Amino acid sequence: TEQQHTNRALVTVDLDAIRRNVALLSARAAASGAETMAIVKADGYGHGAAEVARAALRGGATWLGACSLNEALDLRAAGIDVPLFSWLETPDTDFAPALEAGIDVSVSSAAELARVADAAARTGRRARVHLKIDTGLSRNGCPADLWPALVKAAAAEPDVDVIAMWSHLAAADEPGDPSIDRQAERFADAYALAREAGLNPLRHLANSAATLTRSDLHFDLVRPGIAVYGLNPVPQHEELTPAMTFSSQVVLTKRVAAGESVSYGLTWTASEDTTLALVPVGYADGVPRTLSGRLDVWLDGRRRPVRGRVCMDQLVVDCGDDEPALGTEVVLFGTGSEGGPTAREWADRIGTIDYEIVTGMYRPRVRRVYT
Ligand code: PLP
Repeated sequence: TEQQHTNRALVTVDLDAIRRNVALLSARAAASGAETMAIVKADGYGHGAAEVARAALRGGATWLGACSLNEALDLRAAGIDVPLFSWLETPDTDFAPALEAGIDVSVSSAAELARVADAAARTGRRARVHLKIDTGLSRNGCPADLWPALVKAAAAEPDVDVIAMWSHLAAADEPGDPSIDRQAERFADAYALAREAGLNPLRHLANSAATLTRSDLHFDLVRPGIAVYGLNPVPQHEELTPAMTFSSQVVLTKRVAAGESVSYGLTWTASEDTTLALVPVGYADGVPRTLSGRLDVWLDGRRRPVRGRVCMDQLVVDCGDDEPALGTEVVLFGTGSEGGPTAREWADRIGTIDYEIVTGMYRPRVRRVYT
């Protein structure tokens, strides 16, 4: 059956904001001689990978990064032909499609190197590899004691080109944290060993926070993610614009008398007569139920509190003595430029980070449009 594209649960992505954010980041990178790899994993942090990728390239990014090979292959299938890098595979991944699509892959271990080399031999294509060193995050990446053997093995592989070496920072969003310099030192040691093994790799280390605060760690390439989407990982002021707005509309209004309660559990009771507006979004649309009792929306140019519990499909806004027209736009979160709620505010209120809020907005019930 034909779907009706109503604005029930609507994510609007401002692609020009993404372009401007990347222009800011890539200008920072260029000032220290680095290029910019825009990170578009997790469907572009919930904003739509291919659309974000094109906007980021307009803003001056020259590389794109995705988490998995499948995400990278989707970008190639969308016709995006710039350098692409993906870095986290399962032991059953076949690297051959990556090599055929010209996608750079990450290698963290001798076993992974062998699987990439095998794919190169099978396809007759040279593999473009970025060797990952674990400098202290203790997630993916080669531990320091195995690094000398890995660089030697990579240098000896006839069908493998070591394009880069790279690592990821644990606490760049806490500028001044001593772990940042410790990781940078380990990265420098690993680079020296790579050079001794005869390699001359590019280097990349910086996420958004390090791109904004540590130009000494830009090296050849920076890898910003969250700042591309206009969300600032560091306290300092930056001219970033949040690209995602989540909105709905008023579908019913009613006047209730003092003493009436609202939503499941009747957890909120009106202390005076008031007008309630029903908004048809809930936790199935990405509004965390844990925001019940501490959620505001932006309606008719001002903040209004949500009363009682957030339900699966709906929530109730207290409009006092005002009665919004049916169909009035309700912004759940957006740029916050006029004082309305932001993804960051949601995150702060429920003890998470805005990354989780925006990536969680990619769901079938939520319609996504671009401006
Ligand atoms: N590089 C890697 C390997 C990542 O996993 C991520 C995201 O977590 C990024 C870069 C981008 O980080 P951020 O979104 O903090 O800029």
